[in-house]
Amino acid sequence: MNYNPKQICQDGGDDNIVLDPDAGTPAAHPPALTDVSLEPLSEPTGELNDLTDAVDSFDDMGLKEDLLRGIYSYGFESPSLIQQQSIRPLASGQYDLIAQAQSGTGKTAAFCTGVLQSIDTTIHACQAIILSPTRELAKQSAAVGEALGRYMNASVLACVGGASMREQASALRRGIHLVIGTPGRILDLITRGIMPVECINVLVLDEADQMLVDGDRGFRDAVYDVLKELPRSVKIGLFSATLPPEALELASEWMPNPLKDKLPTLLDLYDQLSITQAVIFCNFKRKVEWLAKELNDHDFTCSSIHSDLSQEERTEVIDRFRSGATRVLIATDVLARGIDVQQVNLVINYDLPAGPGGTANYIHRVGRSGRFGRKGSAINLLAGTQDVAALRVIEQYYATAIDELPRDLSLLA
Ligand code: AMP
Repeated sequence: MNYNPKQICQDGGDDNIVLDPDAGTPAAHPPALTDVSLEPLSEPTGELNDLTDAVDSFDDMGLKEDLLRGIYSYGFESPSLIQQQSIRPLASGQYDLIAQAQSGTGKTAAFCTGVLQSIDTTIHACQAIILSPTRELAKQSAAVGEALGRYMNASVLACVGGASMREQASALRRGIHLVIGTPGRILDLITRGIMPVECINVLVLDEADQMLVDGDRGFRDAVYDVLKELPRSVKIGLFSATLPPEALELASEWMPNPLKDKLPTLLDLYDQLSITQAVIFCNFKRKVEWLAKELNDHDFTCSSIHSDLSQEERTEVIDRFRSGATRVLIATDVLARGIDVQQVNLVINYDLPAGPGGTANYIHRVGRSGRFGRKGSAINLLAGTQDVAALRVIEQYYATAIDELPRDLSLLA
């Protein structure tokens, strides 16, 4: 992963690490715990409201009927992983997004669908741009966008070099909703005043690594120049097979709070940490089950525990964890206090504790690791401004600073 290293150790020996750049300043004495609550957090009733949660059905993504029709008539039945993770954040128009995606994973349909959902077809102006590194790729993506958007009457135009500028100009004058093209041509159309930019609210960079690293300097400059022409409020979706420094540089300059999917981060952590035993916390039963399935599907063995399990099932899960037969346990808060396993040396907050009593739950959670004077660590996965705000509240309450995950994870051991 690419995070800037910075870390503090608290008095108790627990290291709290977050994936966020600006940790606060530690104060002298933590206040007493006053809001301890044993209330479980309530389950969400409708759709999952955390945009970073994967949604494994197109029907449950809150997409427009006409767009759904386009998706199904294109022959897609269920979303690929990258589609599960990135369509809703892009469609929301509220977040910048960094998605690591190779060719062949369904990323074209992912960003086309997300962008099409964000478009208002009653407005006859370009509302989104997708930049591609090659003419061929731009044309292919435009064909996908056109097919997916055909029932919602979305007009999609491929704008690539080598094609007639005049034709592109007259199409743009008629009102095109989504433009997919190469950086040079798009920049040309914008700077000549042919393509108005006022209504553009989303920019997607496809194969960002190719455009920023592999391409020549002019290519890279064109991407930056396009960005400079767009409204400051534009949301950026950066799709890249790798995340080289150039992509992160662009991200840090243009994307103040990119929404990162937490699952790949967690998988990366598994690869890098020598975990003795770990507890991963989620806020809801459904999320616990989902995460357990995802990890097991990725060949990371884990077990899960929440209040829907019978007493016997819970006892069995805990016994297996205590004996070391399972090393990773995914749990809700309900059971945090009952887990007393000396070997737990890592707590991961997949979700930060929330709701009434959330602040107190934080200590109960991180207290699962490093018991009896052993050293333990807690890692908080943050994705978006809400998470950062919630972490600030915890920091303030406990008058401490929670620092960024060190690049060298052996520092945690
Ligand atoms: P891409 O990664 O965009 O190059 O897509 C790779 C291939 O996967 C293309 O042939 C797509 O048509 C196909 N594809 C993308 N999404 C889906 C889906 N949800 N279901 C089935 N096929 C898909």
